[in-house]
Amino acid sequence: MKTSHSIDTLLLHNKHKYDSHTGAVSIPIHNASTFHQFDIDQFGKYDYSRSGNPTREALEEAIATLEGGTRGFAFSSGMAAISTAFLLLSQGDHVLVSEDVYGGTFRIITEVLSRYGIQYTFVDMTDITKVEAAVQPNTKVFYVETPSNPLLKITDLQAVCELAKRSNALTFVDNTFLTPLFQQPFVFGADVVLHSATKFIAGHSDVTAGLAVVKDEELGKRLAFLQNAFGAILGAHDSWLVLRGLKTMHVRLHRSVETAAQVAHYLSHHPKVKKVYYPGLETHPGYSIQRRQAQEAGAVLSFELENEAALRTFLSSVKLPVFAVSLGAVESILSYPAKMSHAAMPEHEREKRGISSSLLRLSAGLENADDLIQDFDFALTLTEEHVKL
Ligand SMILES: *Cc1c(COP(=O)(O)O)cnc(C)c1O
Repeated sequence: MKTSHSIDTLLLHNKHKYDSHTGAVSIPIHNASTFHQFDIDQFGKYDYSRSGNPTREALEEAIATLEGGTRGFAFSSGMAAISTAFLLLSQGDHVLVSEDVYGGTFRIITEVLSRYGIQYTFVDMTDITKVEAAVQPNTKVFYVETPSNPLLKITDLQAVCELAKRSNALTFVDNTFLTPLFQQPFVFGADVVLHSATKFIAGHSDVTAGLAVVKDEELGKRLAFLQNAFGAILGAHDSWLVLRGLKTMHVRLHRSVETAAQVAHYLSHHPKVKKVYYPGLETHPGYSIQRRQAQEAGAVLSFELENEAALRTFLSSVKLPVFAVSLGAVESILSYPAKMSHAAMPEHEREKRGISSSLLRLSAGLENADDLIQDFDFALTLTEEHVKL
């Protein structure tokens, strides 16, 4: 008999397939903030929900299993997960960060952690020579996003994790864009895997949540302490929503990736599109590394139009995607990084990173791919007229 199932089966058939007390096929939502203790000398497993809640724990176990880690932690947002993981650092420590990191991560590092004496250097993680040159004696964390946001740059996880180990530093990987379905950072030696579960994992634009997973048990104890100490835990209802999202993650993601690939292909041949950033295109500089370290290229792509005026025309003409912050949902989402995810980044920093004012990001949802392409095609035609005027 096969001892371990594929991930699509595991998403449904795991320890929480049904409740052991009632047989309920959907995990009960335990709203209790506190738990009765039956014995003065021996307290039960749960005492207070900040420290442990059965619904949240089901999610924490699920994500730990999916990532191949030993312990998972659920937080009230992706930023809460990331910020709590950064609390592993102490005053005087230094962190090396992917250059085009998520705007909120940029903000906590530059404007909050810096006030607590934590130093940082932004580096092009795709160039291992540059990363090596940026290592300092007090570097304690390499912080990686791959594919990065919004330019979908690919970092060689194996190379970075090896360098971090040689430098006695930990590697944190933000795995939001690919999820454990398509990329398993622990395989390459990552220490902490982080997620905004708000995105693909929950998948329905109806919950804000974050996850962290570790493989090392000692590190797990430290993070459990910090989760309880800082207290930015995920509530029971929201934990349940994320668990529900997980059940369909496999079908949702595969479908969205297929659509993203088709749209990327279409856009890359359109004369009004200056550039397409999608690691599934052979022309992408990170294509071969991506093929080696991940199973799919993901459902997010970015593209650059001729100028901001063309972008404005395109946005006002396109009908299907919602125009919004965020990604990884059942509906396609178009966003404008310069004014959305990277609004927290000063303009010169943004431009320096190639996040221009004519760049749009698409997160492909579950609409029919031909419908989406037709919608884009129409909007691009109008762009053409606009440019001619
Ligand atoms: C959205 C996002 C975050 C932040 O997560 P929230 O749930 O919004 O707090 C972090 N990293 C990446 C890559 C994201 O897309």
